[in-house]
This record gives sequence, C-alpha cells and structure tokens, in this order.
Amino acid sequence: MGEFDLIARYFERPARHAVLGVGDDCALLQPRPGTQMAISTDMLVSGRHFFADTDPFRLGHKSLAVNLSDLAACGATPLAFTLALSLPEVNEPWLAAFAEGLFALAGAHGCELIGGDTTAGPLNICITVFGEVPVLAGRSQALLRSGAKPGNDIYVSGTLGDARLALDALLGKVTLPDEILTVARQRLEMPTPRVALGLALRGIASAAIDVSDGLLGDLGHVLEKSAVGATVEADKAIELISAHAYCTRAEGQFGLKLSTDQWRALALAGGDDYELLFTAPPSLREAVAQAAQSSQTPVTRIGQINAAPGLRLVDNQSQPLANTYASFDHFG
Ligand code: ADP
Ligand code: MG
Repeated sequence: MGEFDLIARYFERPARHAVLGVGDDCALLQPRPGTQMAISTDMLVSGRHFFADTDPFRLGHKSLAVNLSDLAACGATPLAFTLALSLPEVNEPWLAAFAEGLFALAGAHGCELIGGDTTAGPLNICITVFGEVPVLAGRSQALLRSGAKPGNDIYVSGTLGDARLALDALLGKVTLPDEILTVARQRLEMPTPRVALGLALRGIASAAIDVSDGLLGDLGHVLEKSAVGATVEADKAIELISAHAYCTRAEGQFGLKLSTDQWRALALAGGDDYELLFTAPPSLREAVAQAAQSSQTPVTRIGQINAAPGLRLVDNQSQPLANTYASFDHFG
C-alpha cells in the first residue's frame, strides 16, 4: 500500500466544520467573528513516550488526548487537528486500530482531522490541535499560566500519580495487584482530556495549566509566569492517587509497600496525568464547584498562592516538608 492509499484509507474523512480538509496542499479553517485560535503541538516518540508494543487503539486515543489537554488548559473549544506520522512499516491492523482510537476521541470532542504528513521512519506521532476561544469586549477569554494572584486557591482535577504507578509497574519497578494495574494503566494509556472543565472555568480560573510533567513542576510554570509563590498540601495530593486507598488497605495481602514519601512522589511528580491545575480567588469557590459539577469532573483544592516567591510543601499537620520531588525533564 502506498502513501496516498494509506492516507485515503485510514485518515481521510469528509470535512465538516473546516472549509477544506485532507487532500489539498493546505487545509482551510475560517475563524468565527469574535474568536481567537488556540494552537498547540505535542509529539509522541516510540520508546520515549510509549512502549513500541502499546495497544494501537489506546495509542491513537492518547496521541490526541495529550493535545486536547492543552486546549483544555487554555479553556479552548477543540475544532480540528493535523497528524504527522512517521511509520516503520505499513501494518494495516495496527493502522486500523490506531485510527479507530484516534477518531473515537476526535468524534467525542467534535475535533476533525484536516491534514498531516506521512513518512517512513521510526514510529513517531505528532499532532497539532486547533481550538477556539471567545474574545469579549476586546479581552481574550483564554486561560493562561500568568494570572495567579496571592490568596488564590489552587485546585487540581481528577486523579494524580496513577499513570506513573502503571509505568513503574510496566518497567518492573513495582508489582501491583491486577485490579490496581488495570485502573492505573487505564490512566497511563487512556488519559481523559479535561476539555469540559476547561471551558466551564473560563471567567472563573485566574490561571491554568495541564499536568503533564508532574504537579509541582507544572505548578512551578504557573508561579514563574504569575510571579507568585505557593503552598501545597502534599497529603491532599496523595489522596488523589486511585491506587492509594486500595493499596494501603491491601498492602499486607499483596506485599506492595510504598512509603509515604513514595506516595507523595507519585502524586506530586509522577507525570502523564493530563489533569488541570488551576487557581481561583476564594470568593469563587461556589463557582468552581459549579464548574466541576457541570463538567462532571472532580476537583480538589490542594493549596494556596502566596505573594512570597517559592514553592512550599506542608503535610497534613501543616508542618513544612522538604521539596525533593523533581518533575520530568527530557534533558534534565
Ligand atoms: P504535500 O506533499 O503537498 O505536503 P502530502 O502529499 O504530504 O502533501 O499529503 C497529501 C494530503 O494528505 C494533504 O492534504 C495532507 O494534509 C494529507 N495528509 C498526509 N498525511 C496525513 C495524515 N497522516 N493524516 C491526515 N492527513 C494527511
Ligand atoms: Mg508531505
């Protein structure tokens, strides 16, 4: 099968919202009046971001999910995406399953594939997403990293640490009971982009970012861009690890024993969570709860923004903890 047959069979779909989709030199998108485009790119490299033998349906899902997560963090509505694919071979069952996982998530978010590039080479998946954000009275409604203010609450959506726990299990660093591995692996391989929450937080959150490299590292980006500091309650983050309650309860039975410090490291620096970390003034706590409810996304308050620079960690007795939890850095 040649390059063009492959594209036509697996990736060409009729354009719906786009003026022009796959098949010409460029796709065409028409921004609606009173809106801005939000654009983001994420690349997934085999052997670095995923195991070469990852289930292709799940890989298709994740490739788009990590990109939609960036749109969610900006409070942008997904519109379209491009797919640049480097493939070691034409493996039709693999391509069919990859496309199925990709289009299942794309369809769920009304985000259409409008173009891309296909070449032979090491397995590499690069997606660029295009989203839309309204401009009201001349002001962009995009959520940025730069708006956190002293006194703001810090929140995180969903769960933390599960993806890293699954990764450690797949690497043989830890042995997990099957039930936990299934749950954790689902979070690693099928992350949920928090698009509905991001949209519901427009006009409420003062700053937002998605957690891809680890909670504290990503919070650090918000602090830097906002020129503020923060205090985080480490043990509230631990409670967001799906596996934590289960493993703690079942520890004797399964021989899995993680120290409090290891649980903290999973929650605070695990990475690959694709949750939203955001800030909002305490006067908007009710509005945040409403946004969580309307988007059916759990949200937990885990700390506070401070005027004093730096990131402080405290335990459940409000005692200071040393921050030794480094986040992921490809070149670090
Ligand atoms: P060009 O050589 O002009 O860059 P290509 O021959 O690479 O164009 O691609 C032909 C058409 O197929 C273009 O519209 C391109 O956007 C689209 N395309 C190529 N690869 C993919 C892919 N993996 N997914 C979706 N569309 C693709
Ligand atoms: Mg090309």
